[in-house]
Amino acid sequence: MNAPEPRPGLRDVEPYQAPQLDVPVRLNTNECPFPLPDGFMDDLIEQVRRIPLNRYPDREALRLRKLLAEMSNIPVEGVWAANGSNEVISQLLLAYGGPGRRVALFEPTYALHSRLAWLAYSETVEIAVEPPFVITSDLAGQALAAEPNVVFVCSPNNPTGNAQPPEIVEELARSNALVIVDEAYIEFGGKSATGLLQSHPNVVIVRTFSKAFALAGARLGYCLASPEIVDDLRRVRLPYHLSSLTQAAGLVALKHAEDALAILDAVRRERDRILEALGRMKGVVAYPSDANFVLFRPPGEAKAVWNALLEKGVLVRDVSDIVEGCLRVTAGTTPEVDRFLSAFQEVLP
Ligand code: PMP
Repeated sequence: MNAPEPRPGLRDVEPYQAPQLDVPVRLNTNECPFPLPDGFMDDLIEQVRRIPLNRYPDREALRLRKLLAEMSNIPVEGVWAANGSNEVISQLLLAYGGPGRRVALFEPTYALHSRLAWLAYSETVEIAVEPPFVITSDLAGQALAAEPNVVFVCSPNNPTGNAQPPEIVEELARSNALVIVDEAYIEFGGKSATGLLQSHPNVVIVRTFSKAFALAGARLGYCLASPEIVDDLRRVRLPYHLSSLTQAAGLVALKHAEDALAILDAVRRERDRILEALGRMKGVVAYPSDANFVLFRPPGEAKAVWNALLEKGVLVRDVSDIVEGCLRVTAGTTPEVDRFLSAFQEVLP
């Protein structure tokens, strides 16, 4: 008997593997460094007590979507939620990608976009964007010339940190492609593309509770789009994909949204402090950021610096496979950023 053959190319891809290491200072996955606001957990426990877990969840996640719709000032029919924005993106690609269909990406960007396109058996067209990583009209034109079915724009972009010019997003939206605007970090900076939704039924804005809302552990993301796009997502989603527990966590998070978002200033302050400090260090290039992290190029080999930081108990992200020679550090609490900066100073040649 032979071992079963997986799909062609499967064994050429690595499982997603950002290291999950138990170290004192974890600044590698752009999470919120602060615990959830006072009262959140009590509220959540209270809500969970009332859930009839013997029953399937509301397949439409209607209460959650209604609240998101109110918050975003768009009709509930244009809101969709899933297990993290990753799942929302995966569903969009199942619905709009597929064999013989093209997905355009501006690289460097979030690695999951091309991975999820591949998972949906789509072709990818990669347009290279040079430092300072701003998409120009010329590059947007190159992407559209490939006549893609789907175009990704990540703004602010991961791992580079910069937001993209709103007029570029609009230029892309004038095409026939589905334009997926990944706004995972929009609460930290940049201008949202929500203004395009009404006039451009091909635009979808993807957001997450994992970053500014400090809810990475709950796995909740959503998108804002036209009702037609949301209907298409219903056609590809698994039945009852969003658990009652996740829906409850989202509802409670929205109830506490004001408190949760009050910490954004503190995160931005730490981000700017990182930028300033790195900018003063000789031989270090740090890129301006509209997000909750900073991309930087240390002198010497990135992997060696990453290792040296880890030895000092500080975990950052090695993104040198995406942007040559670079590391990415998340804005943590003040003591965490202090530890990162002093460790980095010590490991510099
Ligand atoms: N988009 C971007 C740009 C991200 O950086 C991330 C998380 N690293 C995600 C989407 C996925 O977030 P989640 O699935 O946790 O919502």
